[in-house]
Amino acid sequence: MSFRLKSKSKTGSEGSRRFGWRRWLAAGLVGALAVFLVAGCGEGPGEAGAVEGTVEATTTTTMITDLVEQVGGEHVEVTGLMGPGVDPHTYRASQSDVAALTEADVVFYNGLFLEGQMQDLFVDVAEQTSTVRVTEAVPEERLLESEDYEGQFDPHVWFDVSMWQMTIDPVVEQLSELKPDAAEDFERRGEEYRQELEELDAEVRERISSIPEEDRMLVTAHDAFRYFGEAYGMEVVGVEGISTEGEAGAGDIREVVDFVVEKEVPAIFVEGSVPPQNIEAVQAAARDRGWDVQVADEELYSDAGGPEGSGAETYTGMVRANVETIVEALS
Ligand SMILES: [Zn+2]
Repeated sequence: MSFRLKSKSKTGSEGSRRFGWRRWLAAGLVGALAVFLVAGCGEGPGEAGAVEGTVEATTTTTMITDLVEQVGGEHVEVTGLMGPGVDPHTYRASQSDVAALTEADVVFYNGLFLEGQMQDLFVDVAEQTSTVRVTEAVPEERLLESEDYEGQFDPHVWFDVSMWQMTIDPVVEQLSELKPDAAEDFERRGEEYRQELEELDAEVRERISSIPEEDRMLVTAHDAFRYFGEAYGMEVVGVEGISTEGEAGAGDIREVVDFVVEKEVPAIFVEGSVPPQNIEAVQAAARDRGWDVQVADEELYSDAGGPEGSGAETYTGMVRANVETIVEALS
């Protein structure tokens, strides 16, 4: 196309080349716009897309399941794919999960590559139903860069309670769009939840500040708690990186042992969704070097809440349980 234009053009070769290039660009823009419009149609519910009866929402982690239940109340039926103790970094969707995603009125997920094995699936699902990345309203300047993957962000934003508050609005907005007759209710419930989280944020700050300053160190299996550390003033060290996909090497463990022994860390923590071997290895190695570090009695909830009846099945419950475990072990 460019060649033909060039040969027919009466202007110099320089000009014609530029003309051809512009035509290409114009054609490209039209094409991109068409793709954008088609994608846009597939993504939204459309004008006539308001849901009658209960909105069926599918979610990924327990924190997001809870978030959508808090905001949605009786108007929303939530199917959470990942239960208590499930690691979202390595989770692969089953056949029935794919059905639960594509058949839902709306899908809510964390994004920021937390659900690392499901990224392509979310793209496919977005062509069939509404999808919302609940972290979309968190400003980029508040995100921490991933230490494992260049150009990506650390996805564990729920451990800064003031950041998790920012996930409420996108849920309120999307549910209101799907069910306009309940919009006021979503707004009110969202506001109530926001206030609850504001109180929780202050409570966490106060509890963590009760730990002696020199003992505010959080050594865990993987790097889920960097936002927690930033927000509430703790030094955070994880044996594995931000994702649990890789395996911790002997070097990683040795570095953590050095830290534990040199700083005389009183206690280190096992996480519910990560096997305890690495933390146990750190404890054994530290003891070999003469520092008797404890492993906290209770596991921390990192990337998933606890089972029914544990008190940690809700987001606020899991944050409170963690704070109690941390304060008790380090004080
Ligand atoms: Zn994680």
